[in-house]
Order: sequence, then structure tokens, then C-alpha cells
Amino acid sequence: MEMVTIKINGSDVLAPKGSTILEAARSAHIEIPTLCYLKGINEIGACRICVVEVKGARSLVAACMYPIDEGMEIRTNTPQVVDARRKTLQLILSDHNRSCLSCVRSGACELQQLCKQYKVEDERFYEGERTEFAIDKTAAHMYRDNSKCILCRRCIAACEQQAIGVIGANDRGFAASVGCAFDMGLGETSCVSCGQCIAVCPTGALSEKDYTNEVNAAIASDKVVVVQVAPAVRAGLGESFGLPIGTDVEGKLAAALRRLGFDKVFDTNFSADLTIMEEATEFLERVKGGGTLPMITSCSPGWVKYCEHYFPDLLEHLSSCKSPQQMFGAIAKSYYAQKLGIKPQDMVVVSVMPCTAKKFEIGRDDQSATGVPDVDIAITTRELARMIEQAGIKFTELPDETFDEPMGLSTGAATIFGVTGGVMEAALRTAVETLTGETLANLDFTDVRGVKGIKEAAYDVAGMKVKVAVASGLANAKELLTKVRNGEADYHFIEIMACPGGCVNGGGQPLQTAGVRNFTDIRAERAKVLYSEDKARPLRKSHENPDIQTLYKEFLGEPGGHKAHELLHTSYVKRKVNASK
Ligand code: SF4
Ligand code: SF4
Ligand code: SF4
Repeated sequence: MEMVTIKINGSDVLAPKGSTILEAARSAHIEIPTLCYLKGINEIGACRICVVEVKGARSLVAACMYPIDEGMEIRTNTPQVVDARRKTLQLILSDHNRSCLSCVRSGACELQQLCKQYKVEDERFYEGERTEFAIDKTAAHMYRDNSKCILCRRCIAACEQQAIGVIGANDRGFAASVGCAFDMGLGETSCVSCGQCIAVCPTGALSEKDYTNEVNAAIASDKVVVVQVAPAVRAGLGESFGLPIGTDVEGKLAAALRRLGFDKVFDTNFSADLTIMEEATEFLERVKGGGTLPMITSCSPGWVKYCEHYFPDLLEHLSSCKSPQQMFGAIAKSYYAQKLGIKPQDMVVVSVMPCTAKKFEIGRDDQSATGVPDVDIAITTRELARMIEQAGIKFTELPDETFDEPMGLSTGAATIFGVTGGVMEAALRTAVETLTGETLANLDFTDVRGVKGIKEAAYDVAGMKVKVAVASGLANAKELLTKVRNGEADYHFIEIMACPGGCVNGGGQPLQTAGVRNFTDIRAERAKVLYSEDKARPLRKSHENPDIQTLYKEFLGEPGGHKAHELLHTSYVKRKVNASK
């Protein structure tokens, strides 16, 4: 790689030729502000907040787009630069609903931070006409409030990166807005509820539907309220309380949930182990019985909805297993309710998920095994952080506590469900030992690890070559599924997660600014938490979870048996593109 020397604010900086001023400055520990720029997906140089001075250039240049060359001299913070950034912010604010006091993003809003940084307080352009927007509440998982939109297009890019593209720019000039075609509500389109658009939005224009009041009301009621928490939450929640990305907060998470008043604090990892029992059994049945292959995992509701809309002809490839969230609810309201001697309707199951699509999933058909919804309320990691804050719980001071039993014990295999490749690895650990009857010497299937969009591997198992593939992010899923559809792939088993990198990067995880996202692989940092937890667990294979063994012995019978099918399996529907049904 050819390196060049440039000057930034008078100091020499050595950086790769062709890298942008933004990147070169960051390598010299100088952060140039951005609003529209998102590395790799939204490099449009539109917002002009990143302008800098380059010696010899006739005007200010956009640092996110401008490549460096030998001897270039750059100034990132001159009065002219500051004035230009301030004017840009004033213009944005001239048509912005400035309800910061009650805004869901207040304190974590990139626009608000920049206005503070550049002391933009005046009302310079605030007089005059403002555009009026109604809040789009039609989707199951999120709101769009265009009165807080700054037209940066990061959401459009995120949705296109997911190969969905149900949002775009409408109209021009003063009337310009971001939304769906033909004024459709998002809930009327083939949006898959992944929440990747929310994760990249710099302001409060996009937000998950908040159900924290409903959770507090349930806790205050006479019902038994049990909470389950997904694996990826423990790898992300700490960020909401100022801890570094990649901090494991499992113990504090259990302690916080108890202090919020839940009657039982359980772990979705338990039902991730259960999912593996059912999914591995289904896979082996398909292999032995000549069933539809490749079998594709079904634990990511964003992916399932994508398949229903965009590849309905491949639905028979989907495993019929419910997701761990839904399996947990079904078992809590049957097995556990029976243990407590209460009716399913006297229990409220709350789930804490890294995912916004889980809000859609709880309302799907065929997810009410006991006659009432398996899960009553799904909240995201962000909503949980809000509840903890509102309750005055000093998260970072909490002692480490453990989950309650019997639905709190889990294996390392379940923990890695939160990362791309994790479900495949967990399933392989159980399927290989079941097929061979032997104990695996090495439990680490490293070929399916890592943040690469598509991974492939082949394993010799009991005389059979088992070919697997893993995709995360729906554009990668599309590529893989197109091969399956065209008969160009001979995989036996495929894992797909809707969000790039898997649930650790889910649309409900704590938000990180573009300044962080552009220079840190948050997926990889959070994934490390789950792999370390897996390594440290005394049990690392789902079929060795003693509480799962007891559940089958006392209640379910055999994996894949009649009762398991009634409670733990589901069905899918064919949907159209650009329509919700
Ligand atoms: S989006 Fe940001 S600037 Fe706008 S109201 Fe919300 S916190 Fe304030
Ligand atoms: S939730 Fe996902 S599919 Fe829906 S608009 Fe946002 S990015 Fe697109
Ligand atoms: S909704 Fe958010 S991400 Fe999308 S254009 Fe508006 S401000 Fe940008």
C-alpha cells in the first residue's frame, strides 16, 4: 500500500494514498463531524457538515469524499470551516421539530451533539414556513417522524443494503421527504422490520415502538410476569451506560431485571438450547427421510418475513421451528405455568431482544401454543436501558447475579446464537454427536465464524459430506437463495440472520454514532463477548443442558415428538413484494 505524507492542521500525517481526508484525519486522532456519511453504504457527500480547507482548493471540500495525495495541506477547524458547519446546522434546524426535551434521542442525537459542539442556539432561519408531517405508526415495530428528519438518507442506504428498498426520497426541494412510494405506510409494504434504518438514523426521526409503559403496568399487576433476555443483549446493553463496546454485562443484566420487579428472570439462552434440540432433530429427519434440503434456520424473524415476501417458493426449506423467543413463551405458559399451578392467561411473558422484528413476530399467526400469545411484550435492548434509567437503577454499580431456574440454565452453544454462524455451530455440535454417536474432540467450528457476509464449509460426518452455508444481512441472503432457487447450490443446511453480523448488530441494540460506526466494527467487538462466554461455560452443547433434558423427560417427550410439535413448531405464509400480505 502506497503511503503519502500530508499535513493536517500543521502536523505531518502518514496515511494510505487515496484514503479520504476523513479517514486520514481519524488515523491522526482528529474526528471530522459527519451527518450523511456511512462508510461503504452512504458515501454521498450531501450534508456538507464535514467540510475542510485544502490549500490551493477554490472552496471548502467534503472530507468524506476527497482523496488525499502527497503534500496536501488540510485545515479542519478554521473560522471559515466552523462558520460553514454552523450555517449548515442552522439551515437544518430551520425546518426541524425541536422537541429535544421529550425526544427519544435526546442525549444520543447526532444533530443535537453537533449543535451543542458548534454553539448553534440562535433562531437565525427559524421564522417562516415549516413542513407538516404525520407520524407513520403503521409498522408493528417502529415510528417515522419526518418532522425530525434531516434528509441524510442513511436509512435509505441501510434498507437498500438489506436488499429491501421500501423507503426512498419523495418530492423535491422544500417538500422533499423520506418515506414509502405512493404515500403508503411502512406497515403496508414488504418492510421486514429489521430496524437497520433506525440503527443508522442520526436523529429521533426513526424509533422503535416503545412498550416500556406496558411492561411497567404488567409488573404492577397481579399477574406473574416473567422476563427472558436474548444472548446478544448482554453483549450490547453496557454501551447504554457508558461501558466500552464489547463489555459482557450478563450478571448486571440479571440483577437489573430483578430490581425492575420481574417475578422471574429467565434467559432466552435456555430456549436457544431447546431450539437446537428441535432443529437438529428436524435436520437429521430431513437428511435420513429425504426431506427438503437445504434446510434453512428460522430463528431470525426479519429473515423469515423476507423469505415470505421475496422467496415464497423456498418456504418449504425453512425449518418449522419457532424462534427461541417464541419457544420460551410457549414453554413458560405451559410447562412453567403448570409448575406454578396457574393458567397461561395469568402469566405475562416479556422478552428483551436486540431486534425490532421480534415486535412483529409476537403478533404472527400460529404463535399462540396455549391459546394466548406465546410472548406478550417484546422490548429492545434500548427500551430496557430506558427502563433501568427511569427506575433509578445504578447499572454499573450492580453486583453480578445469575438467572433464575428452571429456565435460566444454558450452554455455550446457546450463547453464540447471537452472532452470525452461531446457530449453525450450535446445531453442528449436536447433530454431529447425534449422527456419529461420538464425543466431538473440538467444539469450535471456526469456518462459520466471523463477520463475512457469506461463509461456506463442508464437514465429514459419519461417512457423509455435510455442506453448510451461513449468510447475514439480507443482500447476502438474497445471493445465497438465488443460487438455491436456480439449483446452483448443494448445501444441506443454511443459517440466515437478517442483520449484518447477526443479532449482536440487531436493529434494537444501543445506538452508536456514525463517528463510531465508521471506524469500529461493532459487530466483531460484540461477537467477542459471546465467544468468550461460550468458551468459559462448563457446558457447551445444547443436548447436555440438564434442564432441557428434564423438560423432555417430564413434559415434552422426545425431540420432534407430538407435544414438541404442538408447542414449538410453526407455519409460514406467502406474501407479496411491496405489500404487507
Ligand atoms: S432529533 Fe435530536 S435535535 Fe431533533 S428533537 Fe430529537 S434530540 Fe432534538
Ligand atoms: S426496518 Fe428494515 S426493511 Fe424496514 S424500512 Fe427499515 S431497513 Fe428497510
Ligand atoms: S429518517 Fe433519519 S436516517 Fe432517514 S433520512 Fe431522515 S434523518 Fe436520515
